[in-house]
Amino acid sequence: MPDKPGRIERGRHFLQLPGPTPVPERVLRAMQRAGNDFAEPRFAALTRSCLHDLGRVFATEGEVFAFSANGHGAWELALVNFLEPGDTVLVPGTGQFSRSWAEMARRLGFSVIELPADWRRAADVAAVEQALAEDRERRIKAVLAVHTETATGTRSDLVAIRGALDRTAHPALFFADAIASLAVEPFAMDDWGIDVALAASQKGLMLPPGLAFLAVGRKAMAVAERCRYPRRYWDLQFRRGPESYMWWHGTPPVQMIWGLREALDMLLEEGLEQVIARHRRLAEAVRRCVEAWSAPGTLALNAVNPAERANAVTTVLTAAGTYPDRLRRVCRDSLAISLGAGLGELAGKAFRIGHLGDLNAPTVLGALAGIEVAMRVCGIPYGPGGLDAAVAWLAATASPD
Ligand SMILES: *Cc1c(COP(=O)(O)O)cnc(C)c1O
Repeated sequence: MPDKPGRIERGRHFLQLPGPTPVPERVLRAMQRAGNDFAEPRFAALTRSCLHDLGRVFATEGEVFAFSANGHGAWELALVNFLEPGDTVLVPGTGQFSRSWAEMARRLGFSVIELPADWRRAADVAAVEQALAEDRERRIKAVLAVHTETATGTRSDLVAIRGALDRTAHPALFFADAIASLAVEPFAMDDWGIDVALAASQKGLMLPPGLAFLAVGRKAMAVAERCRYPRRYWDLQFRRGPESYMWWHGTPPVQMIWGLREALDMLLEEGLEQVIARHRRLAEAVRRCVEAWSAPGTLALNAVNPAERANAVTTVLTAAGTYPDRLRRVCRDSLAISLGAGLGELAGKAFRIGHLGDLNAPTVLGALAGIEVAMRVCGIPYGPGGLDAAVAWLAATASPD
């Protein structure tokens, strides 16, 4: 029996969250297996093929590792494999995710220089450069940069941060959290001089939550080989061992690996450039709609600089007296649309529309239309023409038959 009569759900629930994202039917079907003997050479080869193809997605010749973990696990394993106890790290502030990564580094005993975040802008590259230049004793061992800040909907310029390291001739390792940007935004680990890149399964990679990925360049791998920070489960050296159980430090998550193979096939069939172009196009439809809605001043795009607006998530700032959490509740409970909450400084002041992963134009239009219904229900004033603006953009950019 349903717990509330009249609340039987039909149709699809729209998961417009910046993770977890909807898992495609193809991936679900690929995962639907009783299990398998993971010591079989065929299965080891399957795992190897996934790690190899993940390297293509990260655009690196470096080594790729996979873990039974989520994005927070990726943060921790990136810290404990490359830094000595007490080392200093520099964290460019971007929002809630840079804040949480910095907090984790502090808890693990590292010394953290956390640059302040402007919650409407990407990382301040000039401040990064200044902090690096002032570090004459070269105490900073790593820069921890969040590429797409999922709380604010901004994308930081990793090439510019690399430039700051180069201009100051600073030897620190460069870590990039690509958890919300991989397979969404252009990402070129080797070309951009990134030493360690992090990802998780449940965002652009279209998988259920549960896998974390680390791509490691040669310079960082040499550091990991000498690193004395106590660790065992997370240890990359152990995971480079010859037996396939060592790659996962125990039983591999076999169904997830079958799913990963399918998701990678889907991304590579579509073509990574196409995947990125699709995200850019759909994100722009969302932004155009929100800009039209913003006319009466009750809503605004949180990311003020158009060049910094992320293609994975749009954070919508709400004026005082507009209750975004009520809007989200109406969307979820009456319209089958889940939206992200405002986080950190934006708690109670924003909502977030996730638009990444297995997504197409009608899904985006459906979500936007549903949000508009919910705004009416909640009595939130909004400007006209939002859906028209999204439709016009999608029509103008549709591929002709
Ligand atoms: C989602 C996310 C994380 C955390 O990932 P979890 O799987 O929720 O632990 C970290 N960084 C960024 C940028 C994210 O979007």
